[in-house]
Amino acid sequence: MTTYKIAVLPGDGIGPDVTAEAIKVLEALKQQDPDFKIEFRPFEWGSEYYLEHGRIMPEDGLDQLKSFDAILFGAVGDKRVPDEITIWELIMPIRKNFQQYVNMRPIRRLAGIESPLKNEQPIDFMVFRENAEGEYSNIGGRLYQQQSQEMAIQNTVITKQGVERIAKYAFEYARKNKKSKVTSATKSNAIIHSMKLWDEVVKEVAEDYGEIELESNFIDALAAYFVMRPESFEVVVASNLFGDILTDLGAALVGGLGVSPSGNINPDRTFPSMFEAIHGSAPDIAGKGIANPIAQIWSAALMLDHLGRPDLSTAIVDAIEQVLQEGRVLTPDLGGTSTTQELGSAIAEKVQQLI
Ligand code: ATP
Ligand code: MG
Repeated sequence: MTTYKIAVLPGDGIGPDVTAEAIKVLEALKQQDPDFKIEFRPFEWGSEYYLEHGRIMPEDGLDQLKSFDAILFGAVGDKRVPDEITIWELIMPIRKNFQQYVNMRPIRRLAGIESPLKNEQPIDFMVFRENAEGEYSNIGGRLYQQQSQEMAIQNTVITKQGVERIAKYAFEYARKNKKSKVTSATKSNAIIHSMKLWDEVVKEVAEDYGEIELESNFIDALAAYFVMRPESFEVVVASNLFGDILTDLGAALVGGLGVSPSGNINPDRTFPSMFEAIHGSAPDIAGKGIANPIAQIWSAALMLDHLGRPDLSTAIVDAIEQVLQEGRVLTPDLGGTSTTQELGSAIAEKVQQLI
């Protein structure tokens, strides 16, 4: 029987608090199911490590991580450390070197969660954001810096292979989950080089999935549709920047950062995939014990699905939903007065009843 080996990077701020609760829920599953074996190894990298060592992870950090089955990541961010360090020297190297080119973010309104929308229709779709190229490249630069005509050029890199693999992943997911439509975010009317290639390749991939409809929307209109008719989406595929914006918008529609999970997936399984709540280190509430652990617990559920235990993954999401519906143990962002640990324990107890 496999023992899943998980590298845990709790990070900064509320990262360690919410990650501890995700582990609590996984341990509860382990207690209940003798066939489920999982081990955790913590890595204390992050801003404190940077302040002490002058780098945010050891030189051989990636080497240390590469043989794990998955990574559970808290959050990094600290006002004493520039974002260039936390993003470009920790998160990006992991995503890029481990070829986690798919960023998956479920946008699902759980029962018991308030949405800013009046529309009560169920919202349940998956956004796949391209995670390795696109608009977030560091190619470009500043020109004429001493002059009044100063300018900056920021290049976008869209490759045929890059679009093909994210589009395929989205369509495969749609097929596997019996979805009937994939929506592609574009802006090829104005961004005529990169987005035209995006459109062409997505369309080409769609041809292999005759039973699934391809809908292509301009990003500006699509953002509006997210608000006006979120119930109409099933699977959305988007470039790095468009996906980033759409998923934060989607998260806001279904209860906010405290309940929004994500996975950075290496579909080829050549390196570990990484799972993390989409929120950051939230320094404003760090150390107060009131962070909502649901986003991170749900991220752990995505991890179990990826590792081949969809049954346990579903049990976790069901447990979260039942605890929310009961409404007795809720953190302040959900309108309650419970602590991070109380909500984590409530979900851990519930999941044990469900399996
Ligand atoms: P970072 O620089 O690490 O991204 P940030 O300042 O952007 O941190 P976020 O973590 O993105 O902060 O959080 C933005 C807001 O959402 C904060 O006001 C924070 O308190 C709130 N928030 C984020 N995560 C949670 C959570 N799990 N529970 C409750 N509130 C949260
Ligand atoms: Mg942030």
